[in-house]
Amino acid sequence: MASSSDAEPPAAPTTTLRASSMGRLTDVDPRDTPGFDGYKSDGKALLKERGELLAALQERLYAHGRSGDRRSILLVLQGMDTSGKGGIVRHVVGMVDPQGVSHATFGKPTEDELAHDFLWRIRAKLPTPGQIGVFDRSHYEDVLAVRVHDLVPEQEWQKRYDVINEFERELAAEGTTVIKAMLHISPDEQRERLTKRLNRPDKYWKYNPSDIDERAFWSAYQEAYQVVLDRTDNDDAPWYVIPADRKWFARLSITELLIEALEALDLEWPEPDFDVEHEKKRLAES
Ligand code: AMP
Ligand code: MG
Repeated sequence: MASSSDAEPPAAPTTTLRASSMGRLTDVDPRDTPGFDGYKSDGKALLKERGELLAALQERLYAHGRSGDRRSILLVLQGMDTSGKGGIVRHVVGMVDPQGVSHATFGKPTEDELAHDFLWRIRAKLPTPGQIGVFDRSHYEDVLAVRVHDLVPEQEWQKRYDVINEFERELAAEGTTVIKAMLHISPDEQRERLTKRLNRPDKYWKYNPSDIDERAFWSAYQEAYQVVLDRTDNDDAPWYVIPADRKWFARLSITELLIEALEALDLEWPEPDFDVEHEKKRLAES
């Protein structure tokens, strides 16, 4: 079959990019492209090709959801400012039918949200059966931003790792495939992306002066991320570390992780709950 790229999709991303196989965060090169030996042009061509498969698989998940199947997918995106979380939502999740997608972003909690436990606002946005849910930031901010900036006492945030593990175990047991992706960029790449935001009127809207303040906490964040990976990477809800200085690689990798997750659900088209031949006859006679 004619194809726009000769490169193969990244090999076995669920193994290659799994946090436990990526080693320490400080040793991961954000420009690396593990499991993939093509160029940027190959990566971009593949993203389109693989997007078609992703969309076809997602349609099956959606169809199952409409037929009483409880299963869903939750993609959790974490990463420093400018790491490309929004780009994943637009360029990867954006390739599938929006009817089957639920999307939530989690910023600084409101007063109302702070009055509840930290998972309250998260539970309210979980995907329903048949959906792919995507979280742009998540409950992990409650052990990242909160830990780095001492927003609650240590004894409080220390408990949250276990609470999160238990929460995600429940999700998995209820039929949600949880995929957690940490988009790993370098501080230099972030500077370039912020520079772009300041140089282009069409990017001003993405710029937030506090992003510069956050840069001062870079290593504290990396340490907090490492603890997250050490304490919450479970087979029920695995963490993947995605080198993300090359946006095209990050997008392709997450496409592949979603494809693998959907293929693992083994989704045939749901059986009709009506008699097809009988309905055809009725239609012909109508
Ligand atoms: P953005 O994703 O660029 O809109 O930024 C959202 C900001 O909200 C980031 O600086 C996050 O660290 C912050 N944030 C998100 N969730 C929490 C949380 N639970 N506690 C404190 N800060 C948070
Ligand atoms: Mg931001």
